[in-house]
Parts: sequence; structure tokens; C-alpha cells
Amino acid sequence: MLEQVLCRLKTATLWRLFWFSVILSELLTAIIVLPMSVFFQGRIASDYLITGSITAFFVSLIVVVVLVLLIKELRKDEKFLSEQNQRIFELSIRDYLTEVFNCRYFYERLEEEIKRAERYKSAFSLIMLDIDHFKKYNDAHGHQAGDRVLKDVASFLKKHIRDHDLIARYGGEEFSVILPETVRDVAINLAERLRIAVSDQPFPFVETQPDKRLTVSIGIATFPDDAKSIDDLVKVADRALYRAKENGRNGVETAGG
Ligand code: GH3
Ligand code: MG
Ligand code: MG
Repeated sequence: MLEQVLCRLKTATLWRLFWFSVILSELLTAIIVLPMSVFFQGRIASDYLITGSITAFFVSLIVVVVLVLLIKELRKDEKFLSEQNQRIFELSIRDYLTEVFNCRYFYERLEEEIKRAERYKSAFSLIMLDIDHFKKYNDAHGHQAGDRVLKDVASFLKKHIRDHDLIARYGGEEFSVILPETVRDVAINLAERLRIAVSDQPFPFVETQPDKRLTVSIGIATFPDDAKSIDDLVKVADRALYRAKENGRNGVETAGG
């Protein structure tokens, strides 16, 4: 058993174990074997000392190996726990169906983004995006097919936004995207690109949709021009989205315009 354990350890570790054991055995010899030699023999007996220090060395070796193994086990547990914590954290910030961020995390990040923009006197934009006539898709193909296409749309959008943008599922078939350091005109460009990319993408069974394709409507709001608080920013972006719906869907509207 001890041999198997020693075989698994690296040479450097073995040397370290050896030297720890030597030091420990020297200590044991000085503290226990030497006084025992004097106590039992009435003098410092060399044969007694040799046997005692060899025994002390092997006892020390076993103690050190056990300690090292215990530390290794503890480290393994620590790593496992931190991986589990990371997994739980990931689950708590993701939407279970689409795997983009959830609404709660979106609000947290939106708050941070507002603070950051205020501190650096910069602007950022918010996109609210809603799939058009999604109820019709569900009605025609069932809720499960609807779920699949929602997942597809989410990963498609994720691929088409920039690395530093943040996409979340706001609820149902509605997504929100935070565009850091993005003024209105740039946000309009990005939103248009998203809208066109979605409408050009052949998602499954879209021939039953009114336009024979899947389309999205988008509302944009820019901080601080359109609103200065979280609630107002979401409200004006939502109003812009509503206007995009009223104007015939498959369009982009801004809070300012
Ligand atoms: P509009 O163009 O006005 O947005 O029309 P719409 O049909 O998309 O909007 P409406 O609000 O009438 O319906 C939203 C639909 O989205 C109804 C609901 O069943 C569907 N939906 C919401 N969440 C989910 C989901 O998690 N899975 C599926 N399959 N459908 C969902
Ligand atoms: Mg919709
Ligand atoms: Mg909706």
C-alpha cells in the first residue's frame, strides 16, 4: 500500500518526504529515543540509539506520507467544492431553456452598466427584441417546436452580437441586449444587422409564419440621452419596441425617434 502510494508521487515530492522524515526522525530521536536510552540503560547506548533512530525514521516517514495524502485529499475536496460553486452560480444566472443570461442577472448588469456610464460620463444602449407572431408558430407546430426555435434564435443572436455585449432572455419570446459604450447611431446599426440576419436565417418550419420567415421587432434606448434610471431605460426601450410592432413588425425603433 505504502509502496503504491510512493510510486504515484513525483521524485521531487519523494525527496521532500524523505527530508521531512529525516528532520522529524532526528527530532523524535532527540526528544524520545535519547531520554529513553538514558532512562533504561543508564547511559547513551549506541545500538539502542541506532535501532531507535531507524524506527523513528520509518515512523516519521509514515506520518509524513499520511499527512501529505490528507492534504492532497483536502485540496481535491476544495477544488470539487469550488467547481460546484461555479456550476451553481452559472445555473443561477442562466435561463434554463435558452442558456443565455436570465432576467435577474440582466438587471444586475444593467445597474452596473449605469454606474459605470455615470462614473466615466459615457453612453450605452439597450435593445429590447421580441419575436414576431410567435404565438402563431406555437399554434402551428406545438410548444416543443416553439421551444426549439427559441433556443435556436437565442444562440443565433448570441453569435451575432459583439463579445462584450450581454444578451439575456427578458421573458417569453423577448430578449434584451446591453450594448456597453454604444451611442444611439451605432446601436441602430447593430440592431438593423440583427434584424436582417434573423429574417434571412432559415429557421425550421417558418413557412407558416405570416411573412414566411421568422422576424423580430426591436426597440432601442440609450443612456443617458433617453433615460437616467434602470426602470425608465427599460420602459422607453419597451415603448420603442411596441412602436416597432405597431409599425408593422420586423423593424427597429428608437426611444428618441
Ligand atoms: P407579436 O408579434 O405581437 O409579438 O406576437 P406574438 O404572438 O409573438 O406575441 P404574444 O404576446 O401574443 O405571444 C407570445 C407567445 O410566445 C405566446 C407564448 O405561448 C409564446 N411563448 C412565451 N414563452 C414561451 C416559451 O418558453 N416557449 C414557447 N414555445 N413559447 C413561448
Ligand atoms: Mg412576440
Ligand atoms: Mg412578447
